[in-house]
Parts: sequence; C-alpha cells; structure tokens
Amino acid sequence: MIKEIGVGKETLSYCSKCKLTLSHIIAAMKDLDTIAKVFCKTCKATHTYKDPNKASKKKVVSHRRKTEMRSNSKDWEEAMKQASSELQTYSPKGKFVKGDIIEHPKFGQGIIEKLLDKNKIEVLFKDNRKVLVHNI
Ligand SMILES: [Zn+2]
Repeated sequence: MIKEIGVGKETLSYCSKCKLTLSHIIAAMKDLDTIAKVFCKTCKATHTYKDPNKASKKKVVSHRRKTEMRSNSKDWEEAMKQASSELQTYSPKGKFVKGDIIEHPKFGQGIIEKLLDKNKIEVLFKDNRKVLVHNI
C-alpha cells in the first residue's frame, strides 16, 4: 500500500512528549517522500518526525543484550580468583563455611556463597547456582 504523504496529511509518528505512537499532521517535508516535521494532534506540539517502527525496535534489542552479558561463569571466575581457602571434596557429611571451595563429583568446582541454614548451602558453580546439603 502506498500512502500519500505531504503537508497537511495525517501520519503515525512517535511523540516524545506523549511517549506514544500517535496520529500526527505533517507540518513540513524534507523532500517528496521524507517527512521533516509533524504536528501532534494529542499534545498540539510540532516536532521532528520519528518513524514509530525504527524508534521502538532499537531500544528493545540493546536492553536485552545487556541482560544476557551478565553470565554466571564470569561471576564464578571472579569468586574463584578471590577465594583463599583450599579445595575440599564435597560430601553431604562435610561441614562448610562461606567462601569455602569445593569439588563436586558432578558439578565440578564451586564456591560457597551462602549458608542457607545449618544443613543447606548455596554454591556457585561455573554453570549455575545449586543448593546442596551439608553437615548431615
Ligand atoms: Zn504528543
């Protein structure tokens, strides 16, 4: 569908004042098919035309990237570097304290981050966090 555009015609634009994609009246054109300025029918302000599709897509992508960057293995590497205790073999019968490094037969090396209660510890392994039992 080819939309007719020109001064005085209606178009959808993102309005930075209303923070919404709204119906606008074209106030000025850059050239025959590029909108320069629009008039917001809602807040009555004239501003630069913002393509509603381009404006929203960009933001979502960059936000999602940042969250994925914080990986568990980075936390694990840092924690292992800072730990000063000796490596112990994990056993449910063992008694561990915060900061201890353990070797688990299945999950590998991990560092004890939290003592949840007297029989439960939260351990940070390279791939994920696990709650293990101890002091049984
Ligand atoms: Zn507006």
